[in-house]
Amino acid sequence: MYDIIVIGCGVVGAATAYRLARYRLRTAVLEACNDVANGTTKANSAIIHAGYDPEPGTLMAALNVEGNRMTAEICRKLDVPFRRCGSLVVAFTPEDQAMLEKLYQRGVANGVPQLRLLSGEEAHALEPNLSAEVCGALLAPTAGIIDPWGFALAMIETAVQNGVELHRSCPVTAIDALPEGGFRLTTPKGSFEARCVINAAGVEADRVHELLEPVNWKMTPNRGEYYLFDKSEGSLVDHVIFQCPGPEGKGVLVSPTVHGNLIAGPNAEPVTDRLDVGNTADGLDFVRSRALKSVPGINFRQNIRNFSGIRANTDQGDFLIAASPNYPGFIDLAGIKSPGLSSAPAIGKRAVELAAQAGLTLEENPDFRDERHVVRFRHLPPEEKNALVAKDPRYGRVICRCETITEAEIVAALHGPVPACTVNGVKRRCNAGMGRCQGGFCGPRVQEIISRELGIPPTQICMEQEGSWLLACETKQAKEDAGNV
Ligand SMILES: Cc1cc2nc3c(=O)[nH]c(=O)nc-3n(C[C@H](O)[C@H](O)[C@H](O)COP(=O)(O)OP(=O)(O)OC[C@H]3O[C@@H](n4cnc5c(N)ncnc54)[C@H](O)[C@@H]3O)c2cc1C
Repeated sequence: MYDIIVIGCGVVGAATAYRLARYRLRTAVLEACNDVANGTTKANSAIIHAGYDPEPGTLMAALNVEGNRMTAEICRKLDVPFRRCGSLVVAFTPEDQAMLEKLYQRGVANGVPQLRLLSGEEAHALEPNLSAEVCGALLAPTAGIIDPWGFALAMIETAVQNGVELHRSCPVTAIDALPEGGFRLTTPKGSFEARCVINAAGVEADRVHELLEPVNWKMTPNRGEYYLFDKSEGSLVDHVIFQCPGPEGKGVLVSPTVHGNLIAGPNAEPVTDRLDVGNTADGLDFVRSRALKSVPGINFRQNIRNFSGIRANTDQGDFLIAASPNYPGFIDLAGIKSPGLSSAPAIGKRAVELAAQAGLTLEENPDFRDERHVVRFRHLPPEEKNALVAKDPRYGRVICRCETITEAEIVAALHGPVPACTVNGVKRRCNAGMGRCQGGFCGPRVQEIISRELGIPPTQICMEQEGSWLLACETKQAKEDAGNV
């Protein structure tokens, strides 16, 4: 019997596990995918919002502002790329300026520090590449940009290092309430019993809840599409540039990324298939026209990748964070749409408080180690690089030339506390394949290292999800099978 089980390991499940790890508890995290952060956590704008957007009094407002504060501290301790670059919401019309005033008042009510309304001139002084049409802006210096999957990974790695069990490729397919209290969760890897269960299943949270009892709210999934640009565009803006929010959300933003690229997106399109993370010509055209409205100088020929993510929107408007009235040990962290990434640490903290109210005993673990260090060879001064190469020659072999990622860093990604098992898993842990060529050159060499280090044949290596194999068979074999053509 576990004390507590978390279902789902996106940023919310990871933040919850990280919070639980500081107590003497038997905790497990069950994740359906073969890797963590493979859902919405890997495909979003990567902004740590300041917190002026949600309506005062909502959970979203309180947890966003608290989460923003907590994120900076966690990123410092766990070595996660995060930069408080600040954000600007820009106005093009007098109506927009009225909206900025409203956002400013909302932000003050939500407790967002240092907000300031700027004139058009002040906005252009901060961001010379803004459209000449911009006539005012709301500056929020506490907004930031983050590596979203790196954030989730850092928290779950630290949780695992402190004794939390993580089971990947372990979808929960049935939930039964036990007569003596607690729950039995069925998975293809066997059943797990726990006194308390946290549902952090993202866009599947309604379906997971329905394994136990019906839900009285409706998931309304909504897709957002993006352009990602080469680093040559990365310094076009220094702040996150938002347009005024509308009924469909925060609108299209243009932003630097912590990895030095530029990102533009998202649109907002209701979808029926919650796993459909494709891109559409219409969606991308919309993003393009809106992004150019804010920053007309973006060179779309420098686009290196498009992607999309699914928002876990519901018909309720706010995060749904609560224990089931019928089963107080079953706690939903559902409807975690934007600002879910920004709020994740505060959501994790709230989840643990709810578990304590349901009877979980929280006794501090005096051995909890709240630290993590990642070697990023490319950012080191020459003398530290030399010392590393002398100690381990694999630091002297650059595999990803776009990003200067060494063999030693790829090997570390494959043997870490939550080891990578796919090409994209390696990419997200050490950035091999994230550059301009998007893995075109280093991909085969990364696959060779995965095959060697994990002891699997190349034909078993997946790009991402189970079944996404990259290689079918040896070319000669294929020819023979096809009748020696
Ligand atoms: C387009 C877009 C832009 C966004 N931009 C921002 C932003 O800039 N800032 C911000 O703060 N927020 C943003 N968000 C919101 C943010 O990305 C999400 O709130 C956050 O990633 C949600 O994390 P999660 O852990 O709840 O969900 P997920 O990351 O989806 O994780 C849920 C996990 O549960 C697993 N799972 C599902 N079913 C089961 C099962 N039966 N058994 C076991 N595991 C299961 C899934 O495999 C998945 O790994 C954005 C969202 C989108 C879509």
